[in-house]
Amino acid sequence: MGEFDLIERYFKRPARQAVLGVGDDCALLQPAPGTQLAISSDMLVEGRHFLSTVDPQRLGHKALAVNLSDLAACGAKPLAFTLALALPRADEAWLAPFSQGLLALADLHGCELIGGDTTQGPLNICITVFGEVPVVGGRSQALLRSGAQPGDDLYVSGSVGDARLALEVFRGTVSVPAAVFEAARLRLEQPTPRVALGQALRGIATSAIDISDGLLGDLGHILKLSGVGATVDTAVAINLVAAYADCMGARGQFDANTWLGWALAGGDDYELLFTAPPAHRTLVTAAAQSSHTPVTRIGHIDQAHGLRLVDEHGQAVANTYSSFDHFA
Ligand code: ADP
Ligand code: MG
Repeated sequence: MGEFDLIERYFKRPARQAVLGVGDDCALLQPAPGTQLAISSDMLVEGRHFLSTVDPQRLGHKALAVNLSDLAACGAKPLAFTLALALPRADEAWLAPFSQGLLALADLHGCELIGGDTTQGPLNICITVFGEVPVVGGRSQALLRSGAQPGDDLYVSGSVGDARLALEVFRGTVSVPAAVFEAARLRLEQPTPRVALGQALRGIATSAIDISDGLLGDLGHILKLSGVGATVDTAVAINLVAAYADCMGARGQFDANTWLGWALAGGDDYELLFTAPPAHRTLVTAAAQSSHTPVTRIGHIDQAHGLRLVDEHGQAVANTYSSFDHFA
């Protein structure tokens, strides 16, 4: 199978919203009047972001999911994406499930594959997504990292730390009951981008980021760009990962500090971390409900710079949790 057959068979579909899709030198997109384009790229490299043994269907899902997660963090509605793919060989047993997983998630979010590039080389997947954010009264409705205000509540969607739990099982450092592992593994290999929640938070949240490197590390980006500090309640954080394994009785297998480390710095969560003023609490609850996404209040924003961790009694907890950094 040649390069063009491969594109034709696995990645070319009729254009829908796009003016022009796969096949020409450029694709053409027409953003709706009164909107801005939100654009983001993410690359997945074998051995770095995924294991060579991962199910290609799940990998196709994840490659797009991590990009949709960036659109979600900006409150953008997905429109389209491009796919730059380096493949060691044209292996149809890999390509078929990969494109299936990729395009199923794309269809779920109405996000169209409009072009890309295909080349031979070590497996590498790079996606660029395009989304739409409204401009109202001359103001962009995009959620940014820079808008957090002292006194704001701090929230996180879904659960954090369970992708790390799965990774630790793969690494052989821990073992958990099979059902707990399977659930955690899905979170690692097939994360759910919080696209509906991100859009529902427009005009309600003051800042947002998606958690890819770990909750505290990504919170640090909000704090830096907003020029503020924060206090995080660690008891709430522990519950977010421990609740995951509770039903199987797996919580007792690790000490609280292990759970806490995974929740605060585990990484690969693809949840939204966001801030909103206390006056918006009922609006946040309504956004969570309308998007069918659980949301937990986990702390607040302070005028004083720096990050403080407290336990359930409000006592300070030492911060020994570091996030992932590719070059550290
Ligand atoms: P060019 O020679 O102009 O670089 P290519 O031959 O690389 O174009 O690609 C031909 C067409 O196929 C283009 O429209 C391109 O966007 C599309 N394309 C190439 N690879 C992919 C891919 N992996 N997924 C989707 N579209 C692709
Ligand atoms: Mg060209």
